[in-house]
Amino acid sequence: MYPSRRSDREQWIKDARYNLFNLKSHQVFIDLLTDSGTGAMSQEQWSAMMSGDESYAGSQSFERLKETITSLTGFPHVLPTHQGRAAENVLFSVMVSEGDVVPGNAHFDTTKGHIEFRKASAFDCTIDAANDTSLYHPFKGNVDIGKMENLFQVYGKERIPMIIVTITCNSTGGQPVSMENLKAVRSFADSYGVPVIFDSARFAENAYFIKIREKGYENHSIREIVKEMFSMADGMTMSSKKDGIVNMGGFIALNSKSLYREATTYNIMFEGYITYGGMSGRDMAALAQGLEEATTFEYLESRIKQVHYLGERLMESGIPVQEPFGGHAIFVDAGKFLPHVPREEYIGQTLALEIYLESGVRAVEIGTLLADRDPETRENRYPRLEMVRLTIPRRVYTRNHMDYVAAALQNIYQRREEITTGYRIRYEAPIMRHFTVELERIS
Ligand SMILES: *Cc1c(COP(=O)(O)O)cnc(C)c1O
Repeated sequence: MYPSRRSDREQWIKDARYNLFNLKSHQVFIDLLTDSGTGAMSQEQWSAMMSGDESYAGSQSFERLKETITSLTGFPHVLPTHQGRAAENVLFSVMVSEGDVVPGNAHFDTTKGHIEFRKASAFDCTIDAANDTSLYHPFKGNVDIGKMENLFQVYGKERIPMIIVTITCNSTGGQPVSMENLKAVRSFADSYGVPVIFDSARFAENAYFIKIREKGYENHSIREIVKEMFSMADGMTMSSKKDGIVNMGGFIALNSKSLYREATTYNIMFEGYITYGGMSGRDMAALAQGLEEATTFEYLESRIKQVHYLGERLMESGIPVQEPFGGHAIFVDAGKFLPHVPREEYIGQTLALEIYLESGVRAVEIGTLLADRDPETRENRYPRLEMVRLTIPRRVYTRNHMDYVAAALQNIYQRREEITTGYRIRYEAPIMRHFTVELERIS
């Protein structure tokens, strides 16, 4: 929240056991941990909150939210949930059974978690280009249809309840999926008679990239592109904390009335009645307004250009970053940035901690800590890339803040040769260890 002294940060991060999640927000100057629920609501959203209708059933705030979602996506059936993972929990309770296989581009952690929790498997069929940070490809979130075809051959369509496409693909760096690819996924799914669900947290950012990068869409409005994207799916789950620009919320939207009916049972059990699903009326009112704002070109352009501005400042200094830049974050290639730190000492985490110590900026490791241990062998899973994510909240920071962040990374980059050791684990939880892990410095 405020600038701090390095000596204070040394003490705070030691007290936090070198886990950035353990810091208090007042110990952080610029918070780039996540863009989830951290955006600033507009005055129009705040004023919509004042007219929230808190009726248990059939509230006007729900009606407005439903109309907004249907007009944006074309899906007639809408179920609110308290956040994105809750939408997954409800929908997968209907769709996913033990032994199932769910292909798609790289699944988000909670999506994968909810699939694996049901003793099913999530298969990543993202195109290979996504794993090379310096290779230019305009749509690194695309699904490799050939890889999916193989899975269908191996497992058979009986074990594949749906295909999930994440737009934009968070796990590969906020990378978009092209309209051409969404169409290809649709016709592939039709050939097997399998439904397609979009994990849609950053659907508006995906539409922006289609407009900017895909031939034939230059003159389409964002809303036209959004509508066309969703016409390739049978339904969606949504974390409204991203492109809904609200602090909390989520929903499911579907074409099929029978699927909707089955899901309502679980919604009532886990979330709340079907016209609020864990959200207050005022929160649904703010979300309806947020969805309208997030699907304007002007908003998206200023949002994504701010993210890219930071990426350009870093690249100018030779700092290795994932290219092209994604929608919500800049991913720094920590493996290339800190070549002397052994991977057993958590390269991504080492860089994220250096950034905090240098500047009070909180970033997040996307590397070995996050990848966790193999459930069978209990060995560390080493991902292909050790990354640090600089995630930009919506409508919160200025260009000056971006310059400060870039300067911090430049300072570290200049003395990168001196950084040769990392950290070891003192405590870790059996799953999702990165949230609560405790570390010590190797000197
Ligand atoms: C954030 C996110 C989720 C989970 O949503 P929560 O609101 O955090 O529960 C699911 N999928 C994607 C792609 C996300 O970015």
